[in-house]
Amino acid sequence: HAKESGRGQTAAYSAELDLERENLALAEQRLKAAIANDEIEVVFQPLTSSVSGAILGVEALARWMPPTGPVSPDIFIPLAERSGLIDQLSQKVFETAMRAVTDWPHIDLSLNVSPLQLCNPNFADEMKDLLSRLAFDPRRLILEVTEGVFISKPDRARRSITALHAIGARFAMDDFGTGHASIGTLRQFGFDKVKIDRSLISGGNDAILKATIQLAAALDIPVTAEGIETDAQARFAREAGCELLQGYLIGKPMSLARLRERLEPATPTAKRA
Ligand code: C2E
Ligand code: MG
Ligand code: MG
Ligand code: MG
Repeated sequence: HAKESGRGQTAAYSAELDLERENLALAEQRLKAAIANDEIEVVFQPLTSSVSGAILGVEALARWMPPTGPVSPDIFIPLAERSGLIDQLSQKVFETAMRAVTDWPHIDLSLNVSPLQLCNPNFADEMKDLLSRLAFDPRRLILEVTEGVFISKPDRARRSITALHAIGARFAMDDFGTGHASIGTLRQFGFDKVKIDRSLISGGNDAILKATIQLAAALDIPVTAEGIETDAQARFAREAGCELLQGYLIGKPMSLARLRERLEPATPTAKRA
């Protein structure tokens, strides 16, 4: 295994690499079992107003932590897509996330939708069924989609978006600025929001960042800045006109218990001097 040992990866990622190298069928089998056994967890990352700092929404992010060590969604989401498990996985993630935020009707819930799912002709109906089963207000829902889908199957994607727009759900273009999606794509598909990719936020090219934000502003599409890690980045994003901020500076993805602490800070029993 000279080639493998020469890859120079850190131990922290060994579980992911094993999964990649492993026989695909075995990896799929493990993921399938994890879904069936409710071993996929959901964490929540706050989105705050760039002006007031108030938490206006949370993004649900899936987590898989087998005993061998955590596997990144960047690994297991594509695995789920390849092996036809993505609908099952998402159904669980969506349901868990919707149930989790029922106590806070004033905040929005952002869910990541795989491009493959959005192109599934049953996607809109399945989402509607879930919403009504849980009595979850569709107007609180923001579905985040990356741009890949718009190149491959634009008509199917558009049908899903139209059907869910009709009940008040909103769509955000995720990771904007990393690929080929243009302002034209945003308009054509009726996106309600844009999330500027973290690489643009930390990339150091302020002119490109500002121009991207201004393009969205010209279409009246509110912008979220993702991957905000420093005060300087937060200030820049706010001054450039971003509506919402998301990133480690504001809060890392957290358990529901931690989110509750953020949203319902304990009432102080005594006044501080
Ligand atoms: P995303 O939707 O763009 O989510 C943002 C990712 O950036 C998350 O990684 C989050 O933990 C990370 N992040 C947030 N703030 C910061 C920051 O300030 N600095 C840095 N360095 N990173 C930050 P995560 O949780 O590993 O998810 C990766 C991607 O996997 C997501 O990107 C999303 O595309 C996908 N994903 C996660 N959960 C799901 C899911 O339930 N369904 C689907 N279809 N995709 C999912
Ligand atoms: Mg996202
Ligand atoms: Mg993103
Ligand atoms: Mg991403």
